[in-house]
Amino acid sequence: MPRKYLSDTGADKCIFCRIVAGEAPAVKLFEDERVLGFLDIRPLRPGHALVIPKRHCRDLRDCPPEDLAPLLAACRSLAPALLEATGSDGFNLIASNGEAAGQEVFHLHFHLMPRRSGDGFTRIAFAESVARARRAELDELSAMGDSIRAAWRGQGGS
Ligand code: 5GP
Ligand code: ZN
Repeated sequence: MPRKYLSDTGADKCIFCRIVAGEAPAVKLFEDERVLGFLDIRPLRPGHALVIPKRHCRDLRDCPPEDLAPLLAACRSLAPALLEATGSDGFNLIASNGEAAGQEVFHLHFHLMPRRSGDGFTRIAFAESVARARRAELDELSAMGDSIRAAWRGQGGS
């Protein structure tokens, strides 16, 4: 039997569905019909962003194929702006799928993590760093959001 795509309604909405619906605040970077990109509230590095399908799915296994290509295209489009705005040299694109993999928010998301050479951030440190990360205030994140969106526009994003 084919997997059923999960959907959220009313009180069952997850935190990311609430951000999509404008019911919870977030510093948004990119939005189109199917995809939303916004800054992580506990940034592990400056410019740490999340890219999600607007339609709820728990993880990659539940993601309808028609949402996958726009999701990856948004990551591809945002990454150079993130690097320019944060003076980074590279980035990690990470998705945790399932509790066993460390997923905490069960709405599919890609972490876009700007990186610099020699920043000492390793994949192994990822889980520990998440546990230690400080929750940022939204106005702290706003300035970073302004820089990234300006870089994205400057690179031809629309
Ligand atoms: P996961 O471990 O599920 O891959 O990561 C979930 C991520 O979502 C974490 O990095 C966490 O900081 C971020 N997050 C959780 N709640 C919120 C929220 O309300 N707003 C934003 N912007 N990020 C959130
Ligand atoms: Zn959701």
